[in-house]
Formats: sequence, C-alpha cells, structure tokens
Amino acid sequence: MSAETQDPADILMGDVIRLEQVVSRESLTKICQSFFELFRLPVRVISYDGDLLADVHQEQELCRYLNQLPNGQAACTSTVGQVRHIEPERTPIIHPCFTGAVYRVVPLEYQGRSVGRFVIGPYVPVEDKEVPQTLLVVDPDVNAETASAAHARMPRVRKEIADQLAAHMQRVLDLLLFSGHRAQLASTMQIANVRENYRELAQKTEKLETAYEELKQLDKLKSNFLATVSHELRTPLTSIIGYAEMLESGQAGDLAPEQGDLLKTIRSKADQLLHMISDLLDLGRLEAETLTITKEPIDVSALLADVESTVAPAAAKKGVKVDIQVQGEMPRLNGDPMRLKQILVNLTDNAVKFTPEGGTVELIAEPTEVHSGGGAAGGFGTAMFSSSKQAVAFVVRDSGIGIPEEALPKIFDAFYQVDGGATRQHGGAGLGLSIAKQLVDAHEGSIEVQSTVDQGTIFVVTIPV
Ligand code: ADP
Repeated sequence: MSAETQDPADILMGDVIRLEQVVSRESLTKICQSFFELFRLPVRVISYDGDLLADVHQEQELCRYLNQLPNGQAACTSTVGQVRHIEPERTPIIHPCFTGAVYRVVPLEYQGRSVGRFVIGPYVPVEDKEVPQTLLVVDPDVNAETASAAHARMPRVRKEIADQLAAHMQRVLDLLLFSGHRAQLASTMQIANVRENYRELAQKTEKLETAYEELKQLDKLKSNFLATVSHELRTPLTSIIGYAEMLESGQAGDLAPEQGDLLKTIRSKADQLLHMISDLLDLGRLEAETLTITKEPIDVSALLADVESTVAPAAAKKGVKVDIQVQGEMPRLNGDPMRLKQILVNLTDNAVKFTPEGGTVELIAEPTEVHSGGGAAGGFGTAMFSSSKQAVAFVVRDSGIGIPEEALPKIFDAFYQVDGGATRQHGGAGLGLSIAKQLVDAHEGSIEVQSTVDQGTIFVVTIPV
C-alpha cells in the first residue's frame, strides 16, 4: 500500500510503518556520513526487507588486498552477504569476519516492531591483538607480512566505545523515525481532510447540478407555458381590437359621444394588453433564440420621429415634453427597423412613465465610434491593436425619478421592477429593458445606463453601423 492510499487509521495503529516510508534515503545517508566523518567507521542502514538504504564506507586496505586473491575475494563476498542478511532481534549481534574484524548489526525498532537495522564495521576490537590464523590461510597466496601490516591499519575500537557509538547511532535514527512518522501522520491526516472536504464538495456540487437541471426544466416549462398562453390570448384580443375599431368607425351604426369614449378606453386597454402579450412572445423567442433580425438601411431621423409619434399620446397625457434631435452627420446605419424602434420605444416609454408632470425626455441620435479587439478604449494598447468601427449612439435622457444604484445591475433582468410591490404606481411587466438589451445584443451593440435618484436617467444604446 502506498503512503498516498494509506488510511490514516493504519498509520496510527503502527501497522504499515517502514523505515524508508518515513525517513528519506537522503536523510539516512547524511546521518551516516556525519557518523563516518566523526568516527571513521563504515556504516550502512538496511530496511526491514533487506534493501540497502544508506551506505557510507571507505574500502579498507586489507579488504582491497584480499579481494585480489580468488579465495580471499570469495570469503569477503560470503561474509558481506551473511552480514547483510542478519536480522537481530532486540539486541545487537557482533558478527566476526575471517580477517579478525567484526561487524556490529544493530536492530531498529519503532513502536515495538522491527523496521530495519544498521551495521557498523568492519573494525577490529582493540582487545584482539593477534592476527588470526583464518586470515593467513584464507588463500594459498596470502602474504603474511602484507596481510598483517594491512590488519594493523584496520580501524580499532574498544568494546565499550563501540557499544556507545552504536547506542548513539540508534538514538539518532530513533529520533529521525519518530519525527518522520509524525510529519507523515500530519500530512496523511491533512490529505485525508482535504479528501473528505473534496468529497463533501463533490456531493454538494452534484446536488447543485441536479437542482440546476430541475430549475432549467422548470424554466423551460414556464417559457413554453408563457408562449402558449400568450399566443392563445393574442388571437381573441386582436378580434376584440378589430371589432372595437369597426364600432368606432361607425360600421355598425352611429355611436353616441359617451359610447365613443367608452370604446376608446376599451381600445386603449386592449392595445396595452396586446403590447404586453407581444413582449411575452418576444421574450420567449429571444430565450429560444428563434427571433430573427432582418437588417436594412435605416433613416435615423424617420426612426426617431416614428418613436416620438408612438410615445406622444402617453407623454401628452402626462404633461411630459419629448424632444428628438439628430446631431451631426449620420452614417448609414444598417439594422432591423422594427426591432430598433422597439428598443427606442421601450426606453422612451419608460422615460415618460418614470418622469413626473412637467419633466422632459430627450431622444438624441449622434454618430460615434466603437473599439473592438484592443481592450479598454484609449491608451497605447488600443491604438496598436484595436480597430474602431463607426456607430450610432441613441441617447434617451429623462428628468425623472431615477434608479437607485443597487438596482442598476438588475434592471435588465426579465420581470424585474425597482418598485415591484403590489401597490406600485407604474404599469408594466418588467420586460421592456430585458427585451431591449437582447435586441441590442442581436445587433452586436451595447446598452449602458447612468442614473441619479430624483434627478433622472440616461440610457445610451450604441449600434455599430
Ligand atoms: P417595466 O415594464 O416595469 O417598465 P422595464 O424592463 O422596462 O419594465 O424596466 C424595469 C424597471 O427599471 C422598471 O420597472 C423601473 O423600475 C426601472 N426603470 C426603467 N427605466 C427607468 C427610467 N427611465 N427611470 C426610472 N426607472 C426606470
């Protein structure tokens, strides 16, 4: 099991501790190096499974000499192999070499379990003064004098010093194991924590996704319902308007003045309803992306005049003045005339609606430019990388009640009204700006708003020519 997939509980119970899992080979080698530098004694650390984890030594002259002789080399290899596989339990084992040197194999334990061992040596115990016979007879070619001289230069250690050195090394490695294990526990816990948080997050995301899908489904149902109802309402309403017009024109006989007035009210209320139903149908088409824009050259002055004549009755009724102006040389604008009129009527209608008696609404068209591809307008970057396109800006400015700053980001949402309460003073369904924005987008234009409460509002629609 790798450290990554380990359950923290496994580590806590000390089940899967391996020396090499909690202490890096690099750290072990550094410890061995400093031990060697201090005491000039070879030292090796071996894992529980017998892997050499760290090895710091310098070949002894005696070993080098013996390795040149066939029997000497075989005996050396056999000794080293034996030492490598010694597994001491609890107490160190002193393993003798045929050269008279010894290897001290010391067990490493952690939480009562063996995790590996370390080997100090070869060194010759100071107490052993004699060159052993086993060295001199190991190979027929051993030169007693050379062998004895090399034997004399082997590192020599007194037994109690060797005990102390081994105990010292054992303590250092214990400490390293302990701190390494703690660090590993902490990081494993942290990983487990992160994993748990991630799992929770994934669950929440899944729930959110399901809720989102359900909402989308509901929204689609709502849109379908609105589209069907609007469509079904429009047909009888058109008939009502048609019959009212016939009555008004006297086709069914002359009307008394009072009857004429009542019919006018019926007509205007029916027109209002039809307008609202058309808005709902447009919204449905815009959401379903089935509304098509048919562009043709636009006469901007005629467009403004048309908008003015549409809003004039409501403005006159309220006592609000509507000014239209075409400023500067107008470039040739291409757009959908019906939809551009719809945008401007929605904005101008709102301006009239939200401006008290005696106020003014201005509808201005002026040539402008839009920048594309270069980030913010102006500056070096813009000059280098952007291209500017001719455009027409339509400004609708009123001296009305204004829009509070916190409501500005929401006014283009469908059905949103600043005063959405049941007792609101102004009519409407909160669709005009949402439709206007989407129609502006369909013309690849932009719509911006600035407003100050009790002073007025300015909408600027920019349509590239
Ligand atoms: P509505 O049918 O309510 O006019 P709109 O989408 O056209 O719906 O506008 C959304 C809301 O934005 C309005 O209800 C109003 O609160 C606010 N609003 C829009 N235009 C103006 C304006 N010129 N002055 C003040 N408030 C405005």
